[in-house]
Amino acid sequence: MSDLHANIEKLNGYLARFRDTGVLNRIAGKDEPAQSGATFENHSPVDETLICNVAKSGTADIDAAAQAAKAAFPAWRDMAATERKKILHKIADGIVERAEEIAFCECWDTGQALRFMSKAALRGAENFRFFAERALTARDGQHLVSPTLMNITTRVPIGPVGVITPWNTPFMLSTWKIAPALAAGCTVVHKPAEFSPVTARILMEIAEQAGLPTGVWNLVNGFGEDAGRALTEHPDIKAIAFVGESKTGSMIMKQGADTLKRVHFELGGKNPVIVFDDADLDRALDAAIFMIYSLNGERCTSSSRLLLQSSIAKEFTAKLIERVNRIKVGHPLDPTTEIGPLIHQTHFDKVCSYFDIAKSDGATVAAGGAALDQPGYYVRPTLFTQAKSDMRIAQEEIFGPVLTAIQFDTEDQALEIANGVEYGLTGYVWTNDLTRALRFTNSLEAGMIWVNSENVRHLPTPFGGVKASGIGRDGGDWSFEFYMEQKHIGLATGQHAIPRLGA
Ligand code: NAD
Repeated sequence: MSDLHANIEKLNGYLARFRDTGVLNRIAGKDEPAQSGATFENHSPVDETLICNVAKSGTADIDAAAQAAKAAFPAWRDMAATERKKILHKIADGIVERAEEIAFCECWDTGQALRFMSKAALRGAENFRFFAERALTARDGQHLVSPTLMNITTRVPIGPVGVITPWNTPFMLSTWKIAPALAAGCTVVHKPAEFSPVTARILMEIAEQAGLPTGVWNLVNGFGEDAGRALTEHPDIKAIAFVGESKTGSMIMKQGADTLKRVHFELGGKNPVIVFDDADLDRALDAAIFMIYSLNGERCTSSSRLLLQSSIAKEFTAKLIERVNRIKVGHPLDPTTEIGPLIHQTHFDKVCSYFDIAKSDGATVAAGGAALDQPGYYVRPTLFTQAKSDMRIAQEEIFGPVLTAIQFDTEDQALEIANGVEYGLTGYVWTNDLTRALRFTNSLEAGMIWVNSENVRHLPTPFGGVKASGIGRDGGDWSFEFYMEQKHIGLATGQHAIPRLGA
């Protein structure tokens, strides 16, 4: 039996329970259908078959979850950090034990290839371990002495928070947001993306089995415009950590205005990889290909714009075309697959629409530019060349395995093109000229920049974007800045003169 068939058989075992029960909400430690009784169907992008029904929740369900998170908050906040640390480590252990199930379900739910989802599941465990350790110092502050006072600062968890996640690598992203919230002492209401609800449910089960007290983490499924909206408007939810599209971030900011919601946004990107002629071109080629064609190109940090110095463009592009044409598109559970199907019909239609847009704008479709003629939302890895920076293919986030190559002559031109988009999440610079690297990274408008490297995540470093790519940072201590409030306490060290009014 091939690996693929064996994997499909295992997947069927993992999914059987969801076919029977659907994906229910989990509120205050209990399985709950939507109070209205409504459900929606969740289909696989691989062959469009029904995976399961999912609770279609609304305001009443969010309210129940927010009440549960509010009731659980004081005890969780006041639990010794050493205890919280143990629970978070146990969650990480549980993820590792169920990593195969998580990876297989994620592949089937999202269309992402197994080679990447296996790693994403384990990265979820790492996120919990990292913040488990940090829980011990989350409340630490400073000691700022003045002539009359001993000033101390401390941090306290902000309260119940809402976490809203997208469908690309939903498991890993959920852990990335929820682990620091729990480590900080916050309680959570999680609303996962409607297109990929399965692994959020598995994660929730792992957390409860690890001993997380009832109500500390609540899961409510549903659509953005009802469940998501209700979460952002709920008065007992103190902050919203959101990962998704820039225009959704803008809506959430408006929705949260009446309750003065604190927001943290990780949004879209149109990230440049800039290759200068003095770079190690073989490594630059590998990195550029990896950063756009891995994870189906459905990756916020993807290098979707390739800026090539004209002197090397011809040779570099020829090698690129050859490699892109060899990328293996196939079933996500086939271990040799490099690109799986896109998440759903609407997204597939959006990505495919750029094939015509590119041609009508005058670019060349140098590779791909077509869907696969088979069920499922498969597209060929695509490369557009002869593009100009003002074309839609160079400005808009396509969010698929589609790369737009643009040529430049000088460093100034490269910078102008790189910065000439509304986004500013990541940038990748390839040069062996150290001074140029320093100069260029200083002026590049991006929250995260790698020089002579693909995106290699180091958890203590800040993660986030500028411009339309986001507000706030995750990672290291930055996550706690969001999930906690700073508190200042001033203690008089003597009998300083207090102004005496009416004396
Ligand atoms: P999306 O914005 O459509 O949906 C994300 C989540 O928001 C879903 O759970 C959805 O139900 C919810 N939502 C939608 N409307 C809402 C509303 N009015 N109120 C509250 N919640 C609402 O995004 P998507 O299509 O699921 O994900 C892809 C996008 O996410 C891309 O733009 C990608 O770049 C971005 N992304 C960014 C990062 C990052 O770290 N910067 C990481 C991953 C994905």
